[in-house]
Amino acid sequence: MAMASSSSRNGAVRGGSMRPVSGSSNLRSSSFKSRIPSSSAPRRNSTSSASLADNGVPGRVRVAVRLRPRNADESVADADFADCVELQPELKRLKLRKNNWDTETYEFDDVLTEAASQKRVYQVVAKPVVESVLEGYNGTVMAYGQTGTGKTFTLGRLGDEDTAARGIMVRSMEDIIAGTSLDTDSVSVSYLQLYMETIQDLLDPSNDNIAIVEDPKTGDVSLPGATHVEIRNQQNFLELLQLGETHRVAANTKLNTESSRSHAILMVHVKRSVVENEDPVSTETENSSHFLRPSKPLVRRSKLVLVDLAGSERVHKSGINLMRRCLDSGAPGNSFSGTDSLPSRHSQARESLNGQKAPFATLCEQVGLQKILQLLESDDANIRIHAVKVVANLAAEEANQEKIVEAGGLTSLLMLLRSYEDETVRRVAAGAIANLAMNEVSQQLIVDQGGISLLSLTAADAEDPQTLRMVAGAIANLCGNDKLQARLWSDGGIKALLGMVRCGHPDVLAQVARGIANFAKCESRATTQGVKSGRSLLIEDGALPWIVQHANDEAAPIRRHIELALCHLAQHEVNAKEMISGGALWELVRISKECSREDIRSLAHRTLSSSPVFRSEIRRLGIQF
Ligand code: ADP
Ligand code: MG
Repeated sequence: MAMASSSSRNGAVRGGSMRPVSGSSNLRSSSFKSRIPSSSAPRRNSTSSASLADNGVPGRVRVAVRLRPRNADESVADADFADCVELQPELKRLKLRKNNWDTETYEFDDVLTEAASQKRVYQVVAKPVVESVLEGYNGTVMAYGQTGTGKTFTLGRLGDEDTAARGIMVRSMEDIIAGTSLDTDSVSVSYLQLYMETIQDLLDPSNDNIAIVEDPKTGDVSLPGATHVEIRNQQNFLELLQLGETHRVAANTKLNTESSRSHAILMVHVKRSVVENEDPVSTETENSSHFLRPSKPLVRRSKLVLVDLAGSERVHKSGINLMRRCLDSGAPGNSFSGTDSLPSRHSQARESLNGQKAPFATLCEQVGLQKILQLLESDDANIRIHAVKVVANLAAEEANQEKIVEAGGLTSLLMLLRSYEDETVRRVAAGAIANLAMNEVSQQLIVDQGGISLLSLTAADAEDPQTLRMVAGAIANLCGNDKLQARLWSDGGIKALLGMVRCGHPDVLAQVARGIANFAKCESRATTQGVKSGRSLLIEDGALPWIVQHANDEAAPIRRHIELALCHLAQHEVNAKEMISGGALWELVRISKECSREDIRSLAHRTLSSSPVFRSEIRRLGIQF
């Protein structure tokens, strides 16, 4: 289950007026709209909020994933979660094994394991949002995932029998009550269910078709018909939640549906009286005390929205489809994408949540790709940095990849990577190149435009592991293209790949290993088809010692790629002699006996048994096989 959270600035209303100046996270039909407020809204100092300071992107959506423990049925069936899902909480990553050959890695803002307590989930995911709501910002937390993955557990548990079990709704309200004053502030809630196109009031079951009103001028959406209940204390709130839950069950019975098909939305409206100087900017000025104007009371309104979304098996109905970002795929020939600290994932998340176009795509349409690519060579360093980020974002979209390469974008990016000393530019440019190397058509274009030599030169110069990881990832993708094998090798792609192992970073090594596995697989196919003869070009380029050395690497991704590469190489007798003298036979025998993956184990066994050269060597050495 994933949880998305965001908070964005809300307008402060002065002099006791009750009209909110700007809102966000508004509800509209069955999708959420999260707007960055218009520049005309009064601004407050955004650095005071931790969630806004994050990456310097105001109101950006953060996404966390929580894996629930196995339930009794799954334990009985001995379902092996670990076999298909692997969490790497320190790296904030989740790996999904799609099949024997293929894994995908996703990066999140936070990764919460089976062992994570309700308290920790609250602290990581919701507390920063609640804190900004208390400071006057609007915030939203949504739980997303298939039915049964723990959305309601995470958000809605009351914890009446065991306080440690309290979910995000209850804990948020505790903090909101603690952070407001009964005398000067007010807290009220609405609790709603959205099913298909109708909204039912869970606090007033007779109110079963609440109108959605959109302000034609501001686009702000509100639900004036929804019941607001003033909250005086926590007990009061718990009773209300319970009441809402009862109505939810009743409403669902009436509609003949299940709760997993509807969204449940708890809105907490916070209204606080604060005393603030009229012009907050003046307090930042030196000697400002001379110029302070008298304080006026201020009413600050904000809203916390907690959403228990319908099961994601109904994703097409919920309108929310992308909450995780694919970082790379371990599949030979598959895509590799993603750069850390790029705005792309934020805009992606925003795009899918809004159903609106990402700002970068709009920019591209308006300014034109050619112009943006020209800006990569601007004399102004600032412009270059922005341009490379824009291009990287565009390159993350498959639809743009060919266009960028055709327009010469790849060459500009490679030049930037080689000549420009700024670390960020290099990393972002490398990420963009890795993205461009994802699709087959652009792979061909990359090779045609001399991209392999440029990548090789870059590989030789770069030092930052993340840059190298992207370059290695790009080459690894090219390695998986059957048509490019010969050119890849003659332009020095394999040598470049092997050169990058000097860096030693496991992420780089994993990409190198993936490239080797990809190449070995394509080569093996070509040899079988009679398109290629002679020993492996990997052996030709001296890859074997590294392969043998890492065949039992402690990092699972490296080990797995190398094990597969060895099996591919061993399928052809032309490679047998070198493999034996290089120690690869021992590794293959070990793999055939010890590999934790049954499929690889039997592949190694089959490969060895079908080769007369290996068989006789095994006999000669008296190896048990
Ligand atoms: P959803 O709302 O996504 O359909 P639920 O919250 O109803 O899923 O959870 C499904 C089942 O799994 C419930 O029995 C719930 O108690 C259990 N469960 C979910 N998350 C956890 C967790 N972190 N620890 C223990 N049990 C959990
Ligand atoms: Mg549920």
